[in-house]
Amino acid sequence: MGGKGQEEVRVHLNRVGSLGYLKASWPVRYGAFHEITTPNYQFQFSPEGVIRFIQGRPGTWHHHADWFKRAPSGEWIYYSSGGYNGAASALGEHYIPIFPYASNGVLGETVFPQKKLDVALKSLFDVVENAVSIERENGTFLRRVARKNTFGSLKRLGELFHEKVGGFQSVLPPDCRHVDYDVVPIPLVEGCLYHCRFCSVKSAKPFRVRPLDEVEQNVFWVKEFLGKDLKNIGGVFLGGHDALAAGPERVVQAAKRCGSLLEARCMKGVPGLFLFSSPDALLKLSWDAWQALSELPFFVQINMGAESLDSKTLAWLGRPTSAETVFAAISRADEVMRRYAGDLSISINMVLGRSLPPRHRSSLHRFVEGRSPLNAPLYLSPLKDRAERKFCRDELVALKRKSGAPVYLYLLQQL
Ligand code: SF4
Repeated sequence: MGGKGQEEVRVHLNRVGSLGYLKASWPVRYGAFHEITTPNYQFQFSPEGVIRFIQGRPGTWHHHADWFKRAPSGEWIYYSSGGYNGAASALGEHYIPIFPYASNGVLGETVFPQKKLDVALKSLFDVVENAVSIERENGTFLRRVARKNTFGSLKRLGELFHEKVGGFQSVLPPDCRHVDYDVVPIPLVEGCLYHCRFCSVKSAKPFRVRPLDEVEQNVFWVKEFLGKDLKNIGGVFLGGHDALAAGPERVVQAAKRCGSLLEARCMKGVPGLFLFSSPDALLKLSWDAWQALSELPFFVQINMGAESLDSKTLAWLGRPTSAETVFAAISRADEVMRRYAGDLSISINMVLGRSLPPRHRSSLHRFVEGRSPLNAPLYLSPLKDRAERKFCRDELVALKRKSGAPVYLYLLQQL
């Protein structure tokens, strides 16, 4: 692209990144994208021409391997990659996501680098505006980019996304990290069974299973809204805080209706179907029901909120489940993992924090000592972040050393 001030601006259409998800220690781009590079930035756009990634070129940022990613909900996430050798061990990924909203992170920067994003976005808006007037060759693409990537358009696209998918998702299952959180949320339930006192992500709504025609409507709207961006989908989040409580038949029916979201997908491998479960919902499934889930054209990944193995701690958390139920559900999860490896996986959440009753800590340490590599992985969710950063990090290391099964931190990410 020529013109004064535009010498080193280049447009690359229809680029293809990795078609498989990697655990990489370098910035990987997945699926199909378009790109505009300037002396300072690499701007990458979705197939529909909406900005998706921004990365500073060498010399622009202190850690030039860091990048920003825009979720289709309009939220930006900063992928911090510099100076955290322990990231892969703590999170299972080689970067640390930093969110512009309150979360429970105990690693990496405590503040989202908003100024850095604002400067990069200003550069993007300037480049696109100037490029449209001088670049003929890629005019159609640049006009689309100019239309969709103003401050107001990006905000509106984020709002529209929430309208189409039936609302804001206050938390995603931790297993969505395996597809870089490139999931389409389709809510199957509202509310949850327990309404625990400690929970910061719960919905005030009573538990309700959404009828299949509502699910179908969301699928239709999302398909229309995302268009060619469906190429890059890693999976579906069957939403709500306890989708498995809808019952296995309904989960299977809803999953089948989500199949059309994946028709244009360019990513290789079996798509993920991510959902949350409570211990009670998980224990209700018969072996026939597990078999039916395993036969879906998805890799079904269920995240079960166990929270604690200690009855006093469960009461302290305001969670109306007995420790016996939690133990029984974990034992079932381990058995499902053994029988359906590769088709179904279940991970477990437990809370972490210095302010929790001491018996929670001792029960957790005893528990991990008995785990083996094929057991359900454990995610630890810090109840507070800054106040307990050091405690949570030390505790994670201690538990990882004792556990035979994977143990990671669970960062609460929304969509
Ligand atoms: S922890 Fe899970 S079950 Fe408890 S209130 Fe929060 S979302 Fe509901």
